Amino acid sequence: MEITAIILDGKALSQKIKNDLKQQAQSLKEKGVVPRLAVVIVGNDSASRIYVNAKKKACEEIGIISEEYALAENTTEQQLLELVEKLNNNEEVNGILVQLPLPGHINENAVINAISPDKDVDAFHPVNVGKIMIGNYDFLPCTPAAIMELISQSGIDTEGKECVVIGRSNIVGKPVAMLLLHSHGTVTICHSRTKNLAQVIKRADIVVAAVGRAEMITGDMIKDGAVVIDVGINRQEGKKIVGDVHFESCEKKAYAITPVPGGVGPMTIAMLMKNTIKSADISLKKRKKI
Ligand code: NAD
Repeated sequence: MEITAIILDGKALSQKIKNDLKQQAQSLKEKGVVPRLAVVIVGNDSASRIYVNAKKKACEEIGIISEEYALAENTTEQQLLELVEKLNNNEEVNGILVQLPLPGHINENAVINAISPDKDVDAFHPVNVGKIMIGNYDFLPCTPAAIMELISQSGIDTEGKECVVIGRSNIVGKPVAMLLLHSHGTVTICHSRTKNLAQVIKRADIVVAAVGRAEMITGDMIKDGAVVIDVGINRQEGKKIVGDVHFESCEKKAYAITPVPGGVGPMTIAMLMKNTIKSADISLKKRKKI
């Protein structure tokens, strides 16, 4: 049966969320706290520069101060750790974001571990990862939170649904699988060594593709009426950006689908803004207690 899927419009939803956050930022300012995000970028990765600029623009829109620390490619791990420590100790900074990937000579885990969990608006620190596992957290990682928000705001119920996540990274696959589990889905995580991937995907009511392989999920692989969430951002020389999902063929079979661009991407940035406002709010509440 050929149907036309509902398009889960991340651009429109993220705008709505940002409008709400703007009001929250204003109210925090009236109480004496100006939300502030420190954005650290090391080296000259062009995709990282695009993401950092988009995050700074969203800060501006909402009324969050963004401070950029653009460090040279040859910055040492020690220098970066010292900057993180300085930002940890700066009471005016509510959120610290170190744009990944870092140059190869810097140990990413060492840097993530150095960020104060209270300012870890990406929610990559092991303390925050552990809290998410338990289900008692302040911050959710931005892309998994974006996916859950897109699903729930579209009135899609996850309870008892077969959810198949493709990709097991620490920043997307694993945490989104945990959030789907918290929301009562029956979750399967697939990865590069999964056998019979197409068969596993076929049983899914909800498919989350987070692989980084252009248009690998095609319409014949999904069940009629599935919800398809495309996390992939694949930049190919001279071609338009595409996701991990072949949109045209999946759109004909899915109940709902996210576009790329305009789906998970803008929502991810909105979730970063949400975490920064939340961190500012927590710091205000702490101040009041002292
Ligand atoms: P990653 O490279 O860390 O992980 C990719 C995962 O895909 C791995 O777990 C691997 O096992 C799995 N995989 C690789 N080949 C596979 C195959 N043939 N079959 C099944 N699984 C396979 O990537 P990531 O950081 O999780 O990102 C995934 C994609 O999402 C990338 O395109 C990235 O650019 C994009 N992304 C988008 C956003 C956003 O805001 N929209 C945020 C983060 C990442």
